[in-house]
Amino acid sequence: MKSNTLALACQLLEIPSITPNDGGCQNIIAKRLAALGFEIEHLPVNQISNLFAVRGKEQPVLCFAGHTDVVPTGDINAWRFPPFTPTIDNNTLFARGAADMKSSIAAMITACERFIQRYPHHRGSIAFLITSDEEGPALDGTQAVLKQLAAQQRIPQWCLVGEASSNKQLADTIKVGRRGSLTGYLKIIGKQGHVAYPELAMNPIHHAMAALAEIAAFTWDNGAPPFPATSLQFANIHAGTGATNVIPGTLEANFNLRFSPETTPQFIQKTIEEILQKHGCEYQLEWKQGGKPFYTPPQSQFIQSVSHTIEKCLGYCPEHATSGGTSDGRFFAEYGTEVVEVGPINASIHQIDECINVTELEQLTELYEAILVDLLA
Ligand SMILES: [Zn+2]
Repeated sequence: MKSNTLALACQLLEIPSITPNDGGCQNIIAKRLAALGFEIEHLPVNQISNLFAVRGKEQPVLCFAGHTDVVPTGDINAWRFPPFTPTIDNNTLFARGAADMKSSIAAMITACERFIQRYPHHRGSIAFLITSDEEGPALDGTQAVLKQLAAQQRIPQWCLVGEASSNKQLADTIKVGRRGSLTGYLKIIGKQGHVAYPELAMNPIHHAMAALAEIAAFTWDNGAPPFPATSLQFANIHAGTGATNVIPGTLEANFNLRFSPETTPQFIQKTIEEILQKHGCEYQLEWKQGGKPFYTPPQSQFIQSVSHTIEKCLGYCPEHATSGGTSDGRFFAEYGTEVVEVGPINASIHQIDECINVTELEQLTELYEAILVDLLA
């Protein structure tokens, strides 16, 4: 006999909703939430399905955030079980999206069902913001919906993202912030020529080497716990025609920084330009800003409540981390929402044989319910 959470997770996991497709998942979610008294808004943007649902009109608003899209399966034949036929084996549920993150969505919904049955007149409001564009460009998903909510002054105070935040045990780690991301596309300009006549050419490789070495070695900051030090990594570098007797005309390099709140994009850009100029490089440099860094401090009532509740339910204190890639939490944070990510163990996400332990799924439901009780009962 499947629990409500497991049954709902399987229902969602059967749908092959590879980004940007939702495949009808959000209709299933909307139906369950409407039955609980949530007001439902379907807010599609271009190809993307988005769902915003809210129960209550009062502050504070606790918003559960998540996505119904999943990453592609990779080689289907490499899977132990077909990736869109959710299968339980040895108390483990296998399917694409089992950890990232349809199980979390199922747990959020059944947690709300239990909570609302116990506390039909709870304080504040509960909301859901679900998109089908988290694993893709993420332009027409959460970001676009929040823009609409901001225009209506409906930005939630707290956001719980169900991404797989845990390492070895459920909720041993919660994400309370993320580093920022900044990419530089650099072109060093020289003058092409014959290697036998260097006086008639200008070699951009020779010109670039000292400057790039200095950029790579630069210490941006020492980090600020829980943020590690800012890191710059060159990702690609290319120059040359393939021939061994030609000095190339240009060198192209790109690099990415993951930066802590101790360092600003403005400082990074200024410093790198100064290094290039100091070495006499003629260059073109374009920048692409990814997410800004954000951080919800441990003193916040939200983080304290989530941390205490984890300790009460599971018997250990979660580590507060800012590691890992980006999530839609960054979009909420830009509007001043306090954000925390609490979800399943991340070991199998995006992999062949993605899975979640069935006991972990039930514990996650209990945890989400307990967080609701602590904040809104
Ligand atoms: Zn995800």
